[in-house]
Amino acid sequence: MNPEPYRPEPVETFFNIEAFEAMRKALAEVRGQFGRHYPLIIGGEKVETGEKIASTNPSDPAQVVGYTSKAKPPEADAALEAAWKAFQSWKNWPQEHRSRLLLKAAHIMKRRQRELEAWLVYEIGKSWGEAAADVAEAIDFIRYYAISALKYKDGAPVVAYPGEDNAAFYIPLGVGVVIAPWNFPLAILAGMVTAPIAVGNCVVAKPAEDTVVIAAKLFEILEEAGLPAGVANFLPGDGAEVGAYLVQHPRTRFINFTGSLEVGLRINEAAAKLAPGQVWLKRAFLELGGKDGLIVDETADLEAAGQAAVQSAFGFQGQKCSAASRLIIVDQVHDHLMEKIVGRAESLVVGPAEENPDLGPVASAQQENTVLSYMDIGQGEGKLAVGGRRLEGSGYFIAPTVFEHIAPDARLAQEEIFGPVLSVIRVPDFDTALEVANSTRFGLTGGVFSRNRERLERARRDFHVGNLYFNRKITGALVGVQPFGGFNLSGTDTKAGGPDYLLNFMQMKSVTERF
Ligand code: NAD
Repeated sequence: MNPEPYRPEPVETFFNIEAFEAMRKALAEVRGQFGRHYPLIIGGEKVETGEKIASTNPSDPAQVVGYTSKAKPPEADAALEAAWKAFQSWKNWPQEHRSRLLLKAAHIMKRRQRELEAWLVYEIGKSWGEAAADVAEAIDFIRYYAISALKYKDGAPVVAYPGEDNAAFYIPLGVGVVIAPWNFPLAILAGMVTAPIAVGNCVVAKPAEDTVVIAAKLFEILEEAGLPAGVANFLPGDGAEVGAYLVQHPRTRFINFTGSLEVGLRINEAAAKLAPGQVWLKRAFLELGGKDGLIVDETADLEAAGQAAVQSAFGFQGQKCSAASRLIIVDQVHDHLMEKIVGRAESLVVGPAEENPDLGPVASAQQENTVLSYMDIGQGEGKLAVGGRRLEGSGYFIAPTVFEHIAPDARLAQEEIFGPVLSVIRVPDFDTALEVANSTRFGLTGGVFSRNRERLERARRDFHVGNLYFNRKITGALVGVQPFGGFNLSGTDTKAGGPDYLLNFMQMKSVTERF
């Protein structure tokens, strides 16, 4: 097998007229498919249940983008059964065959790129560029894992020993449960599903309730690529019900979860309990939230810092685990940088995602309520510099918001808001900035804008985050280029899109034959 070497997909900006027109066409076509119904997929069979999940357009919640059936515990049992059955043969497929199939899936995804972007625009309110980045990342994950899996096919090197033949090789774990968030509903789901299956596991996937349609599209692509029945099962449902049921199930071998700290902690606890009949210790991979800080010191390029801060804080309405939610500015340049940030934030256009504004709506009524409640808290904890309100319109539109004079231990500086709210913390010097940056329970992304080599090197060593960026934005990690995952309560740090990620889903067997 001779795959093209992996390199990240370029992300479309839509400045090119052909891409722009293709996107307009895709949006119109996708709009024409609103309201369709997508069944569960269990063991390759389309399964209907009595209840439905309706997925709506956050730019205009009266529009139903599509429906899926809603799984309950009996369907979860059936899906685990189907996955274990498929595992008996899938685990024995030659690695090249599994990798080739996934490379084909990545090609199909590439062919359907504009259409998938259009679904993301409508289903979760991504601007065109943000939607393009999500689809590009999904393609990257699939290709990267398909190619990376090949490096394990001949096992691990072991030391020769006289009179014996020794070998160590990798085998898959079995059947796992994938539970995904809504914020990168194609990329994260695609990555969390295809990594384990690339190396021979089977999965039951439960997408987030708000993004079931784009999840159904991933399953269409896997089916078209020829994935055997039962290898990946599509099981939309309520997280607290069917998600929790799958987590505690004795037949679940591992849990691949990305989402909030609150739910992650619950899963961690449930996964640690031995269920009756369970004969393994479950592996739980938990990639959780952040309270990501960007430091700007007095030597920094303030123009670049202002631009990066605004991009990192407000891209996809601040609903990225990597989003800058704390801007830590050294006193000497505070006022100057604030001017730039306020100016940039004020000029951002907020509106329906299909019109490709700078910011679309936040994801749901629940997100809107959470963000607005933090705005009230912010009024008590600091000074509003810009934004701070809901905007007119049919969708969940919120003005990009900046609070200044926030104390490092304020709620606005400690709790993940997951919306377009940036808290600015003023500090006397770089040493304090670094201390403040490390003073949350999270440790996902962070950044430093500085021209001082000694400080950058200190941050490289002491800024305790999984993904650290110097003199650029702190979002937009590329698969294979910036392996992604956080420290402390940001999760188990599996480093998705990294060279060791697939090892999470395998175990090593050592076999010795005495001659
Ligand atoms: P969430 O935790 O509310 O939901 C995530 C998933 O868990 C959903 O599919 C949901 O249905 C399911 N779920 C809910 N309760 C459950 C339960 N009791 N048992 C099992 N499953 C359950 O998170 P969200 O709002 O969808 O996503 C946003 C969060 O995800 C943010 O905190 C963000 O920082 C985090 N996130 C982290 C990363 C990362 O790589 N670290 C990436 C993206 C998002």
